[in-house]
Parts: sequence; C-alpha cells; structure tokens
Amino acid sequence: MSKIEMKTPLVEMDGDEMTRVIWQWIKDILLEPYIDLKTEYYDLGLVKRNETNDQVTIDSAEATKKYGVAVKCATITPNAARMPEYNLKEMWKSPNGTIRAMLDGTVFRTPILVKGITPYIPTWTEPITIARHAYGDVYKNVEMQVPKGAKAELVMTDKDGNKTSETILDFKDSSGIIQGLHNRDDSIASFTKACFNYALDMKKDLWFATKDTISKKYDHRFKDIFAEIFEAEYKEKFDAAGIEYFYTLIDDAVARVIRSNGGYIWACKNYDGDVMSDMVATAYGSLAMMTSVLVSPDGIYEYEAAHGTVQRHYYKHQKGEETSTNSVATIFAWTGALRKRGELDGTPELVKFADNLEKATIDTIESGIMTGDLYLLSKLENKKKVNTKEFLEAVNDTLSKLM
Ligand code: NAP
Ligand code: MG
Repeated sequence: MSKIEMKTPLVEMDGDEMTRVIWQWIKDILLEPYIDLKTEYYDLGLVKRNETNDQVTIDSAEATKKYGVAVKCATITPNAARMPEYNLKEMWKSPNGTIRAMLDGTVFRTPILVKGITPYIPTWTEPITIARHAYGDVYKNVEMQVPKGAKAELVMTDKDGNKTSETILDFKDSSGIIQGLHNRDDSIASFTKACFNYALDMKKDLWFATKDTISKKYDHRFKDIFAEIFEAEYKEKFDAAGIEYFYTLIDDAVARVIRSNGGYIWACKNYDGDVMSDMVATAYGSLAMMTSVLVSPDGIYEYEAAHGTVQRHYYKHQKGEETSTNSVATIFAWTGALRKRGELDGTPELVKFADNLEKATIDTIESGIMTGDLYLLSKLENKKKVNTKEFLEAVNDTLSKLM
C-alpha cells in the first residue's frame, strides 16, 4: 500500500512528559505507517523553551500563521517546583497563552463520546462544544477595598479631557468593595467571528448568552456585536448551511443546556466559559476525552488535547513502571489537524484517513479495549484494561482493517 501524500506541512509542536512519550508513539504506530508525514517541527518541550529563551514558542506561532494548521502536544507551564527540576533561567509563560495571544484565537473544547460511558446528564447524547472568550471582564479587572464614609465613582476621560462620571455607591455607613471591568469591541468582534466561523465549519448551531437585561450597557454590547456581525456577514451562510444562531439570557441558557441533547456550540463570556467548561467536561466523564482547538478570526487552527502532560504517569514511566495513559485526546488532536490540512489542500485521502483513525479509536474502546481511566468509568461487560502502548497497538489493529 502506498502512503498518503501531504501537499503542505502541518506545524508540529512537541511537548513534555507523558504526552511527549505518547506523541512519538502515535507518530510511530498510527501515522507514519500510513502517511508520508510532512511537518515543520518545533520542540516546545520545556528544555528547548529554556534553551531558546522561549523563542521556539514564538517561532511555532509564526509558522502556524504561515501554514494555517498546527497540532500541539501538552506542555509544562512552569511553576516554582519546575525551576530546579529543569534548571530554568526564568519561569517561562504558558505556551498556550503566548500562542493564543499571537493568533488572537478562541478555544473550542469538545468531548469525545463512546458507548459504555454515560455522561452524568444521560440526555447529552451529542457533544456540547464550549467556546470561551478569553479576554477581559473579571480576569483583567481592577478592584479596591473601600473604607466606610468613602464615595466610589466610575470616571471616564475622553481624548479631549472631558470627564463623564457615575456614582457607584456612597459608602456612608459601611466599608465595602468595588471592581472595574472592561472589554474591547475589537476583542468581542474577534471572538464573535471565530465562533460563527467554527459553527459553519462544524455545521452546528451556535448559542450565546449574557445577562443583558440587567447589564444594559456592558453585556448588551456583547449581544449587539454578535447580532450585528451575524446579520451583516453570517446570516445567509447559516441559512445555506441549515444551522441557527440562538441568543438567550444566561440563566435561561443554563436551563436549556441541561434539558438538551447536546450537539451545538455554546459561546460563553470569559467567566461563564471558565465555570461552564469545567462543569461540561466533568459531566461528560473524563478530561482525557476532551479535545481542544484554537481558532483565529481569520481561520487559523491549532489542535490539541485539553489535558496536561500527565506528570504523575510520566514519573512512573521514567522509573520503568507500566502506565495506562489515555491517548485519545492527543490522537484526536492529530486527526483534527490532518483533516483540516486535507480540507484546505484538497486531499480527500488525508480527510478519509483522519475519519478512519477516529473511527478506529472509538471502535477499539467500544469493543472493550481501553486505558485505566476509562476502565473505571465504562459500563461495558467485556471491558479490558491495557497499558499505554497496547492501546495504540489495538487501535492500529482496528485501523489497518479500515484502510
Ligand atoms: P494533567 O496533566 O491534565 O493531569 C491531571 C490528572 O488527570 C492526571 O494525574 C491523571 O489522573 C488525569 N489525567 C489527565 N490526562 C490523562 C490522560 N490522558 N490519561 C489518563 N489520565 C489523565 O494536569 P496536571 O497534572 O495538573 O498538570 C501537569 C502539567 O501539565 C503541568 O505542568 C501543567 O502546567 C501542564 N498543563 C498543560 C496543559 C496544556 O499544555 N494544554 C494543560 C493543562 C496542564 P491520575 O493521576 O489520577 O491517573
Ligand atoms: Mg475553570
């Protein structure tokens, strides 16, 4: 059998610890036997980031802008404990944060569903994808403690020095607290476009919610920007694709989400996305089954697993002990990137390969072969726990029959 050709390279961002081990095994066992894999390789492992003063992260983001599609392994975000462990010159910033800022991207997280693992909300038979606006609001706030007797005001000075002010509260008879929030129209618009583009890409409805009835200027601005961009640029495309844009109040949205069967993208303001993404991920069963893609407003894609480097398993692996680490989300990062590359390049064999590898992965788990984390959750009767590498080999057995 001849190998599948790639026209354009993928940007490959290698990472750390157990996921770095899995990364190589996925390439060796599941990709390179079938594809003439073309990648532009960037080593985002912490050793290399430290060596290059984190330049490698910036270079990888630039390459992603150039080629349009990247696949990323989980990476360590250093904390105090990592300083001596890796002999670091600095506590380097999160690579994901750097890449997201450079691409002005929005992160979409989607669970992978398999038979045998029922979500905590059993009616969720389809995935719910969460998109979080990762700028502003309470994450970029200023706040103060206010002593009793003080008066708090919100003041804006325009470029000519004119001031507009509003009283927040006269703290006559109690001390208290105040907070200043902001967001930017350009950031909201980028988020809006990334969400509409991704909905078209996935052919899924898009939901968005705020508290605009209470927050008549702040939250209302989000509602208006979504509505204006939808009417001007997306309504016809949504009609043609047979999908909907649905806006409601955040509390109504939460009630509807719980009653729904899933199958849509839920765009969230920053705080809502922080909270809801953890709730939704947990309800679907396992962080190891959650994929993540960063999408820029101009259509650049970076695929990864939502989980971290699985440090505890890596330390076992280093000691020569057996691990049973789940590689599904990392496999799906590769299939997401290969499918997108195939779609952009017009190489249907690559798209077909991505579909087959996803099917082989799910079929393998549904046939009862799975890693330890899923073994604990699965209600299948004939289930069998395998180690990290045995799982990949079992997926390959299934895959080879589909090819
Ligand atoms: P983690 O790597 O996601 O792992 C936390 C725990 O979740 C693991 O110890 C394991 O539980 C379970 N788990 C996660 N993924 C799994 C998988 N694929 N298969 C089986 N079990 C899995 O989070 P962490 O330990 O808090 O963080 C480790 C490192 O990852 C940190 O340095 C952090 O900075 C980094 N991180 C990177 C990213 C990213 O690059 N996107 C995201 C998050 C964290 P058990 O130990 O109970 O088996
Ligand atoms: Mg959170």
